[in-house]
Amino acid sequence: MSGVLKPGDTIGILGSGQLGRMIALAAARLGLRTHIYCPDSGPAFDVCAQFTIAAYEDEKALAAFADSVQVVSYEFENVPANTAAFLAARKPVRPGPRALAITQDRFTEKSFLNDLGIPTAPFAAVDSVADLEQAVATLGRPSVLKTRRFGYDGKGQTMIREGDDLAHAFNSLGGGACILEGFVAFAREISVIGARGLDGSFAAFDVCENEHANHILSRTIVPAHAHPAIQTAAIAMAGKIAAALDYVGVITVEMFLVEEAHGAERLVVNEIAPRVHNSGHWTLDGAVTSQFEQHVRAICGWQLGSPARHGAIEMHNLIGAEADDWAALLAQTGVALHLYGKHEAREGRKMGHWTRVLPEKG
Ligand code: AMP
Repeated sequence: MSGVLKPGDTIGILGSGQLGRMIALAAARLGLRTHIYCPDSGPAFDVCAQFTIAAYEDEKALAAFADSVQVVSYEFENVPANTAAFLAARKPVRPGPRALAITQDRFTEKSFLNDLGIPTAPFAAVDSVADLEQAVATLGRPSVLKTRRFGYDGKGQTMIREGDDLAHAFNSLGGGACILEGFVAFAREISVIGARGLDGSFAAFDVCENEHANHILSRTIVPAHAHPAIQTAAIAMAGKIAAALDYVGVITVEMFLVEEAHGAERLVVNEIAPRVHNSGHWTLDGAVTSQFEQHVRAICGWQLGSPARHGAIEMHNLIGAEADDWAALLAQTGVALHLYGKHEAREGRKMGHWTRVLPEKG
């Protein structure tokens, strides 16, 4: 198989945040080097062998970066398409540019999912106030208007409720390409984090249950509260998506769990993240192989590791000033603390997380 790395080789990563940092740490444990490329310095720079500060459009810097690595990956989904194509012409980019293209645009992503027979919220493309009026007439209120691109942590979206002015809602998101989604009255939010190897093998961690505060992930617990058959179905969906994308690396599929009459449950896929994910940080302390190591194994063309869980998991994000409690957390037996080395604890900023792994009740 071509494009298989060996210890001592270098992984290139676009993006210098905490995800890149944790990938770099996992790579180092396996004797691999990392070269981080980002327009701004960030937490990953502290732990990599090499870094480049340059724009994603700087072809000279990109070419030098490609020359210095054996494979290119990324820690965020908004890598410009031209950057991905430029690098892919020189070195393997994993996951590939197609996974980026599909997951960068909510309309393309939902269309792709529906074509695979995977349920999403009902949706319609909205490019004007007139489109929005028509879409609201079909999908009803409440519904959720989102920008097609560049949304994260609840940014780039607004709820359309009874009485809301549609022109105001459309303009509040910048008046660009949007998508309207029917409102999903979900009971819980879950995620599946899986990895697909170069050989097509697939391994998923147990389903995560996620709680948000102010649109930012605050707590993940595993096992999720969901019927075993639903958990199996959720993992099968992630595997189907990864195979359809001819994916290599860690993939995350965020889903809504809807409770129906008589205790039945149903899944609705919300979005795909073509990367490691915050809801998988527990795997550093609570699984045989962490999501970061699994990503490194996959993009290096190595065998995937076991995703088996060590116990019942609770992971908390430390957002902004919450990280000031670091000393008290260190004093707690059984708490594994992770700090990302960010200097400024701005509001809403992910500063670190902690995980507790407890024996699973029989
Ligand atoms: P997203 O940016 O798509 O991940 O959405 C952020 C959050 O908004 C989700 O985690 C949900 O809590 C909520 N949300 C997004 N889309 C919908 C929807 N169609 N129906 C109900 N809630 C939604």
